Amino acid sequence: MKTILITGGTGFIGSHTTVELQKAGYNVVIADNLSNSNENVIDNIEKITNIRPCFIKVDLSKEDECKKVFDKYPNIEGVINFAASKAVGESCEKPIMYYKNNFGIILNVLEQMKQRDIKYFVQSSSCTVYGEPDKLPIKESSPIKEATSPYGHTKQVSEEILKFVTLSSNIKVIALRYFNPIGAHESALIGELPNGVPNNLIPYITQTAIGLRKQLTVFGDDYPTPDGTCIRDYIHVVDLAKAHVVAIDRLINNKNKKSLEFFNIGTGNGFSVLEVIKSFEKTSGVKLNYVIGPRRQGDIIQIYADTSLAEKELGWKAQENLDSMTLSAWKWQLALKK
Ligand code: UDP
Repeated sequence: MKTILITGGTGFIGSHTTVELQKAGYNVVIADNLSNSNENVIDNIEKITNIRPCFIKVDLSKEDECKKVFDKYPNIEGVINFAASKAVGESCEKPIMYYKNNFGIILNVLEQMKQRDIKYFVQSSSCTVYGEPDKLPIKESSPIKEATSPYGHTKQVSEEILKFVTLSSNIKVIALRYFNPIGAHESALIGELPNGVPNNLIPYITQTAIGLRKQLTVFGDDYPTPDGTCIRDYIHVVDLAKAHVVAIDRLINNKNKKSLEFFNIGTGNGFSVLEVIKSFEKTSGVKLNYVIGPRRQGDIIQIYADTSLAEKELGWKAQENLDSMTLSAWKWQLALKK
């Protein structure tokens, strides 16, 4: 059984990926500082898979703490790196904290890997590296535009760091550029747990529907799109989690074509904010209280993935549709209330 270290494994995407890796026969070690997640996620993962992942609470941005993880689990063969601060707005207020944390984590982990000859690394990257696209759907070969936030910048520079690390070591990397992950596990035992007032659309919708928030504001309906609202490629978190299993399999089985590969992980379909609201109202049966407000600064007008490379090379394709995503998010919100 191969052991994979999941940094940030108690978070939204990390927890779903742990489940899928365990189902695929991997042994999972989770390292997380619980800054934006809860330790009971470990219990809930165990309830789903009947396997308890190993868990170590550490701050990986501290060199000695990161070393401790690799000392304690000498069998680690690969790493999937989710641990990072991820709020765009907060990163603009605290850029130094974002750079220290996100770069500290990736550099410390890579250093340990290099020292111990651990070869496989999957990076959680983001479609934010593309900025406002010139052409849609967006391909992996599209230009990387100037970052609009320190968060986006850390994702861009992390890809650059990985480029130079793969050139100078045996480490092989797949960077997955996610579009908009939403939804939750069908068991409603794990899902997205935003701290405080959510920034993202789906948790804001479900919290409004359940009465935690008064009203959703749609950020602008005067964009040059069919209904005037912004368009995104929403992807079910379980589909996204499965892409990580395929990526780590590819590296371990030496199927990668280059030492650093990038893949878009989306559905290839763009949906507007109003279409997401409509889907939510249909699947939940709840009428959503929303108003049209001003545009949010820094929002990209529309972006959706060209997923042909992931299909061809990884043999991976998203299976879920928008309705199953909004329904699973709603079931998770209902389960949280219990
Ligand atoms: N959005 C919105 N109201 C909200 C939160 C988000 O209208 O309260 C819109 C936002 O302008 C964007 C889309 O929903 O067009 C997705 O936003 P989110 O923050 O979830 O993801 P990202 O901006 O990272 O794509």
